[in-house]
Amino acid sequence: MSEQPKYGFDTLQVHAGARPDPATGARQVPIYQTTAYVFRDAEHAAALFNLQEVGYIYSRLTNPTVAALQERVATLEGGVGAVACSSGHAAQIMALFPLMGPGRNIVASTRLYGGTVTQFGQTIRRFGWSAKFVDFDDLDALRAAIDEDTRAIFCESIANPGGYVTDLDAVAEVARDAGLPLIVDNTLATPWLCRPFEHGATLVVHSATKFLTGNGTVTGGVVVDSGTFDWSASGKFPSLSEPEPAYHGLRFHETFGPLAFTFHGIAVGLRDLGMTLNPQAAHYTLLGIETLSLRMQRHVENAEKVARWLEADPRIERVTYAGLPSSPYYERKARICPRGAGALFTFAVKGGYDACVKLVDSVELFSHVANLGDTRSLIIHSASTTHRQLTPEQQIEAGASPDVVRVSIGIEDADDIIADLDQALEKATGMARAA
Ligand SMILES: *Cc1c(COP(=O)(O)O)cnc(C)c1O
Repeated sequence: MSEQPKYGFDTLQVHAGARPDPATGARQVPIYQTTAYVFRDAEHAAALFNLQEVGYIYSRLTNPTVAALQERVATLEGGVGAVACSSGHAAQIMALFPLMGPGRNIVASTRLYGGTVTQFGQTIRRFGWSAKFVDFDDLDALRAAIDEDTRAIFCESIANPGGYVTDLDAVAEVARDAGLPLIVDNTLATPWLCRPFEHGATLVVHSATKFLTGNGTVTGGVVVDSGTFDWSASGKFPSLSEPEPAYHGLRFHETFGPLAFTFHGIAVGLRDLGMTLNPQAAHYTLLGIETLSLRMQRHVENAEKVARWLEADPRIERVTYAGLPSSPYYERKARICPRGAGALFTFAVKGGYDACVKLVDSVELFSHVANLGDTRSLIIHSASTTHRQLTPEQQIEAGASPDVVRVSIGIEDADDIIADLDQALEKATGMARAA
């Protein structure tokens, strides 16, 4: 599906997946706002339905605008194919769906987006799936958590709410030894900061809602396949290795080789779960990705400036950002995401919970929202919002203890971002910086 990268990242983020429209010559990818596609004849229709020929049938499965996005993200991640979905959470279910079944489990990092902890800890139980949460810095605990029913290992490259970088090389080695796929949520890093496949990941998932689109207009998600996992080796992944009854006994892995996971995602996952991305949303995300590296560069530059400024502030207890030399993850960051630790981090305010609440009520330039990865600077008090559903222990494990606020640093002038935090901290703590 994805082309061999003969160009560099900045070129591919503009061009991958996008050819001039064959009907009109349109240079930008058109929004193919259509539900269905006319078959050439009955034979053509039958071949498409049998997966003997690849083409467009119905937009729950495939759409040319969405296909351009899939190819672009797959190319930027260095994968062989991708499936776009209606949200990041949809992408996570779509990644697990072909691997799991009743009684099966995943082993997941404790350091995850709050919504993912809830999805894995609670909701997937309704499918008979379960998750075991482990500290991924403790590789013995990770190994010990894997059992006969484990079907995947799941973590985030840079973990939400920020400040933590997973040692993907070490975790991938554990997964490889156990014969299991490693799924990495690369939302906070984006392929510009981290390419999980180069560190041994099998699948990458994205919330395209965040930095990929980059401007807070869309909810979307993507699952990308490295094409490197042998789905037939262990007999543990029958959806991919055994005959599929709804396609006349076709075996996806045998038939489609490295594209098995992607084809299954479209032909079975989107067909039956229906968590499809719409073409309008795909268009916005394609536009966003055109400037991904430029934005990420500025996001990182600003985040480093703001984090350093906060670390030197007497009103701040601590700053948790892997881009600071004081971070225990600074060395690891240099290996896993050498271009920077992203734009998301937390800081603890002297005065605890009450000061945090007052801070988010006092900012003017920052927006108090449950989102991240926008061009705008965003702030949230995780313990009272995104991580509210978690137990106090889970909050602390996830890096969202009650005295911390999470910021997603935008691409505005760094001086303006700092000035806004300065005035809001003064209101929140009753202290001026140079008191
Ligand atoms: C937002 C987010 C998700 C969920 O994505 P949605 O698009 O909101 O469904 C998953 N993982 C991470 C790291 C996120 O930041």
